[in-house]
Amino acid sequence: MRTLKAGREKRRAWERAHRAKNVEKYRAKCRQYYWANPEKGRTRARAWYAENQEQATRKWREKRLENLEYHSARVRQWNRDNPGHASAYNAKRRHRLLDGRSRGVKAEEWTAIKEYFCDLCAYCLHPLRLERDHVESLDRGGLDEPDNIVPACKSCNCSKGKASLIEWMRRGGRVTRAFLPANVGVVRAA
Ligand SMILES: [Zn+2]
Repeated sequence: MRTLKAGREKRRAWERAHRAKNVEKYRAKCRQYYWANPEKGRTRARAWYAENQEQATRKWREKRLENLEYHSARVRQWNRDNPGHASAYNAKRRHRLLDGRSRGVKAEEWTAIKEYFCDLCAYCLHPLRLERDHVESLDRGGLDEPDNIVPACKSCNCSKGKASLIEWMRRGGRVTRAFLPANVGVVRAA
């Protein structure tokens, strides 16, 4: 019994060492297995993701921020490869913006809003490239007007999506104290 156990452990140690020495080979093997049984792999990946969603999102976000240029370039390339998609999306968005409900936001108003928020993302306070976030999303009837616009980094803007502030907060959105809905109206009056 003892020798059996010792033998098993020895073999495991050897396997570990072998694996460490041949990482690339094992990865290739894993990849090969994955593509031979994609559904199996995907089911496993989905189950893992459901269990570790928060960790996965955080990791993904960190990785993205580390390689911002790479990811932006990829998005640009995808848009070039799929010309219909982006323009259809933009057209739909423009149509919503110009549906007559909203008067829009002038360039100088946008500048004033950004200045008001010290050129930081209103949610996470990162000085990344800022986008206009509609606090109440356009899909929910929010207007494309200064009262409803705050600067947000792409990460926050994407994460918030169409959710309301409350929904986003419940989901772990990074709403900081710097962002108080009462602040938004001040920008317009100024
Ligand atoms: Zn942000």
